[in-house]
Amino acid sequence: MVALLDRQVLVLNRLWQPVHICSARRAFSLLFLGHAQVVHTDEERNFFTHDIDSWLKVSIAEANGEIVHTVSRRFRVPAIIVLRIFDRLPRKEVKFTRNNVFARDGHICQYCGQHFEIRHLNLDHVIPRDKGGKTSWENVVCSCVRCNTRKANKLPAEANMFPIRAPKPPSWRPFFTRANLENGRHFHESWRYFIEPSSEHVSVSN
Ligand SMILES: [Zn+2]
Repeated sequence: MVALLDRQVLVLNRLWQPVHICSARRAFSLLFLGHAQVVHTDEERNFFTHDIDSWLKVSIAEANGEIVHTVSRRFRVPAIIVLRIFDRLPRKEVKFTRNNVFARDGHICQYCGQHFEIRHLNLDHVIPRDKGGKTSWENVVCSCVRCNTRKANKLPAEANMFPIRAPKPPSWRPFFTRANLENGRHFHESWRYFIEPSSEHVSVSN
């Protein structure tokens, strides 16, 4: 039961945009308070919303092992909820992490323009650290091992290697790309209707 209550639930805002992931425990508390509704899909990909009472009926009808027992009732763990209350907009800032840099650059080496799997990618400081370059969105790019080795600790002009795109903080939320969510512990198939396509499918213009 503890594990089920820790299951991840996708949270949509009132415009049905993904805003975060919460635990099933938190989702149930929002449902009981009437602050959210369950979003449920059927086999024909129709979407239905349920308040806690109608979700109880669905839970009984479709029991398949994902059931949480309360003192007197049983509820199926939802995969998605939609908020009914006005919520704050998602945080604009994307956290600077290795994986988020890879996601921002679409797993494309910013020097040779080729696509690589994560294990063949490095982070490269455009202005090397020993020349005062910062570890920031503006100075770090995704680079393949070969380009990274070639550039070493040279300035772009010294190495004649310039990033394809000037690095900057992403304006989107890389967390909500499919690739990132699939790396998570639990990815529910129905989530994919609400999340951005993988950045791998976004073409890059030089
Ligand atoms: Zn490269």
